[in-house]
Amino acid sequence: MPIVRPEFLQPPLSPDLIARLTAIVGDKYAVTDAEELAQYLTEARNLFHGRSPLVLRPASTAEVSAICKLASEHRIALVPQGGNTGLVGGQTPHSGEVVVSMRRMDRIREVDTASNTMTVEAGVILQTIQRRADEADRFFPLSLGAEGSCTIGGNLSTNAGGTGALAYGVARDMALGLEVVLADGRILNGLSKLKKDNTGYDLRNLFIGAEGTLGIITAAVVKLFSKPRSVQTAFVGLKSPADALKLLAISQAEAAGSLTSFELLAEICVDICLKHGTDIRDPLAYRHPWYVLMEISSSRDDAAATVEAVLDRGIRNGFVGDAVLAASLQQRAAFWKLRETIPPAQKREGGSIKHDISVPVAAVPAFIAEANIAVAKLIPDARPVPFGHLGDGNIHYNVSQPVSGMTTQEFLARWQEVNAVVFKIALRMGGSISAEHGIGVLKRDDLPGVKDKTAIEVMRGIKALFDPLGIMNPGKVL
Ligand code: FAD
Repeated sequence: MPIVRPEFLQPPLSPDLIARLTAIVGDKYAVTDAEELAQYLTEARNLFHGRSPLVLRPASTAEVSAICKLASEHRIALVPQGGNTGLVGGQTPHSGEVVVSMRRMDRIREVDTASNTMTVEAGVILQTIQRRADEADRFFPLSLGAEGSCTIGGNLSTNAGGTGALAYGVARDMALGLEVVLADGRILNGLSKLKKDNTGYDLRNLFIGAEGTLGIITAAVVKLFSKPRSVQTAFVGLKSPADALKLLAISQAEAAGSLTSFELLAEICVDICLKHGTDIRDPLAYRHPWYVLMEISSSRDDAAATVEAVLDRGIRNGFVGDAVLAASLQQRAAFWKLRETIPPAQKREGGSIKHDISVPVAAVPAFIAEANIAVAKLIPDARPVPFGHLGDGNIHYNVSQPVSGMTTQEFLARWQEVNAVVFKIALRMGGSISAEHGIGVLKRDDLPGVKDKTAIEVMRGIKALFDPLGIMNPGKVL
């Protein structure tokens, strides 16, 4: 199991302070009841269990500001929380901190189709932004498995990636401006719609990916994009990750910027989805060791023709074994459902040691091959379940426990050992130990070993500047 070593212990809050914090949001929106608190203290995978005397649910930037001001006056540690879908324990109060849940700040302040921007509060659910963009005949491309429950504030704070990053970039690339409440309660109003603004240091980008350690994001201006006129999705059977790389090269040559997703799945991913998922069908008639789920979204009516041209080249060159094109929106949704079923299906297979690795795209086949060998040496019957965003070089190199001969507890006790060998291979290839999920507490103690020493020093300096009392999400990232 990941080890959480809280470096900060929140002294118990006096009844007077609890009452003063409660007064800011109103009784109805301050949670102290143990049963109601529970949903804020554990997360989707049930890996992290926190404790907190109080969850505050502010409705406005002014309320967040008042909370931070009082917290800094009395040195009360705060943990910002959005949809609570984060995968590295960043949103969990590990040491009795007060949770600031942003879910009530869920207003869309403005849709500006002339500037192609939307101004949203931090607690707006990602899927709501996608739908609102669609209604305005625009497209918001950030997309991930948790989009029905994660918030834009959480997406920006983790700099989320997801399945559209290949063409549109990560959350950072979709933000123009931010409104942030600093640790001392001051409001940094950067809700700019400008693409060009060279007036000094880029403060916005410091908060994106900071995982709530520098301040609380209360609102953002995000970019809207043109809706693609045609979309085609294919599910392709292949022999190896090396063949998937060849298919990627052909796809990029044929489709250029229109290649919007390129997901790699090992055969075991399809096996477990068929076994545990509901309404999941094998898209292809025959089994293959590897699969690619690819999507082309074009501003013209040529997505289907482009996918066909790509697959035709793959078949003629002898490395595409089998492929199916989505014949309807339902079939497209079924392909994506299979992809999104992998994490819950893997949970049903028992213990899983997770990785969120990125390596240069060309190194992905070698990374998977070497990691498989290294893991097999450590735990011979462990089952690697690699899948992820091949187009970005981002592989969720997860490892499921052996089918028999080991309890979940025994398997998870090897977490650090398995991490160590997998990280070592990724780093040797010029990769990262956290491509898109962040550091949180899960990888906090690994960071100093893998990040440039000067970079860590500068990060500590920035943290001290924005949060001199260390009350913003203590014990996370650094
Ligand atoms: P939370 O989990 O509540 O918080 C995450 C972090 O952000 C914490 O450190 C928290 O303190 C901080 N935070 C939250 N809101 C604020 C705020 N307003 N101001 C300051 N700090 C804040 N991630 C990807 O990148 N790509 C994927 O493809 C992907 N797929 C996923 C699939 C599933 C099934 C699940 C469960 C998760 C997945 N994730 C993925 C991880 C997760 O969904 C993202 O990290 C998401 O961006 C978190 O948003 P959230 O609102 O749930 O944030």
